[in-house]
Amino acid sequence: MEDYFGGLNKMYVLHHLTGATAFVFLLFHPLFLAGHYILFSLRQAALFLLPSGHWPINFGIAALAIMIILLILTFYTNLHYPVWKTSHRFLGLAFFFGGLHAFFIGSDIASNLPLKIYMVILTILGLVTFIYRSVFHKILVKKFNYQLEQVIPLGEKVVEITLKPQGKTIQFEAGQFIFVEFLQKGFTESHPFSISSSSTDQTNLKLTIKALGDYTSKLAILKIGTKVKIEGPFGRFSYKNCHNKNQIWIAGGIGITPFLSMAPTINDQYKIDLYCCFKTSAENFLLNKLQKIATQNNQLRIISWPSNKKGRLKAEVIAEMSQGLNNKDIFICGPPAMLKSLKKQFIKLKIPKKLIHSEEFTLL
Ligand SMILES: Cc1cc2nc3c(=O)[nH]c(=O)nc-3n(C[C@H](O)[C@H](O)[C@H](O)COP(=O)(O)OP(=O)(O)OC[C@H]3O[C@@H](n4cnc5c(N)ncnc54)[C@H](O)[C@@H]3O)c2cc1C
Repeated sequence: MEDYFGGLNKMYVLHHLTGATAFVFLLFHPLFLAGHYILFSLRQAALFLLPSGHWPINFGIAALAIMIILLILTFYTNLHYPVWKTSHRFLGLAFFFGGLHAFFIGSDIASNLPLKIYMVILTILGLVTFIYRSVFHKILVKKFNYQLEQVIPLGEKVVEITLKPQGKTIQFEAGQFIFVEFLQKGFTESHPFSISSSSTDQTNLKLTIKALGDYTSKLAILKIGTKVKIEGPFGRFSYKNCHNKNQIWIAGGIGITPFLSMAPTINDQYKIDLYCCFKTSAENFLLNKLQKIATQNNQLRIISWPSNKKGRLKAEVIAEMSQGLNNKDIFICGPPAMLKSLKKQFIKLKIPKKLIHSEEFTLL
């Protein structure tokens, strides 16, 4: 479904928004009904919101209570990602109870056939996708088998990982990302990473990973030969998915990875200015790698931006250094704060939103 939404990241954003909107509507539902009882008695209104002997109502109360708890955890707490992900799965239970409530309550849905058919289809679709994705994902979701070939430290906090296929090879476009599970104790959580190797070599998959938390900090101790499960590829962050061949690419820190994959694939039709904002020696090492690619390709110009010396890169500076921004597509990948700030600055410079493409390294 990525094509309809412009990539998995954008689907997550929309999912977040529809989830929050549905939640607000659902909160109004019992409140309006209780309001109806208030006309007769406050006690009756309060009792209406509490579980009773009427099971269809209890299912509704249970669904709403689960949703309230889980969405508070989502929107207002900063749970460790795997804990949050497990908790979020229980929304399937809220959906199931909500379905039971809707069908057995015997009101609008029961008396309106088209609405009933619509709700039955929607509920079945929801439950089937939930069972596929969240309950039996280990068996049902298609994954590729790879093996860990090499782990090279590129500096204090960055490692480059090479994976070799054990059977079918994943077919990816430069700029896409995958979910990776290493089948070694302590590493079986699935995490998303951009493919940093060129799409011209579909066999040796490379990932370049910065230590940002518990999981990414211990990757250097992975054992060579470990079996790896890969899901994907995902994402629509591709310089080919736009009109202008004259483009600005901006990488912030480890956000350089999709550009490492894209840079070797650009042909004579394109003209790219790639701005690399970096702070650490490992990022500098990756910048050197890109500079080597640029020496063999006149269509690619690398502009290095050591943020610790020059401060934050500004849209105005980019406009000046790249002789204007008219009729250019802009691709940004980096920390969420950098993305937000640069997008705002480009929009202020009257760059149409559709020309600004971004890849966020977060799915929350
Ligand atoms: C599309 C995409 C591409 C990415 N590409 C790269 C890359 O090329 N190189 C790189 O170094 N990093 C990349 N990341 C970021 C990387 O996935 C996170 O840094 C890593 O998952 C953090 O895990 P942690 O447990 O070490 O850190 P934590 O401190 O536990 O997590 C830091 C943040 O990472 C996110 N995160 C954590 N676990 C997961 C998970 N299982 N699934 C999804 N998000 C999670 C959450 O937003 C969390 O708040 C990418 C992320 C996305 C979404």
